[in-house]
Amino acid sequence: MICPICKGEMEKIKDVIEQDGLEFKAFKCKSCGEEIMNMKQLKSLARKYRKLRKAKEITFAKWGNSIAVRILREIVDEYGITSGRQGILTRDREGIKIVPS
Ligand SMILES: [Zn+2]
Repeated sequence: MICPICKGEMEKIKDVIEQDGLEFKAFKCKSCGEEIMNMKQLKSLARKYRKLRKAKEITFAKWGNSIAVRILREIVDEYGITSGRQGILTRDREGIKIVPS
């Protein structure tokens, strides 16, 4: 593949979006550092994003006078969360964080 900016040679690279920990593949120019993705690489990244987004979805529900949080099975299994197990809820600038104890 040829760089559209400087016509230099491009190589396949693997990188990570730090914020989400998502791995992606792209082409990077050996001369100017320009990075581009082809359709296959873009679609792959979009698929990973959709999956990540879905895995993070929660639902709030009324439970007596409180509000309960429904967590998707995928996350429950990943963290070994069971009914009755306790955790700690902390706050930060973006919202709340739940850490199973
Ligand atoms: Zn270039």
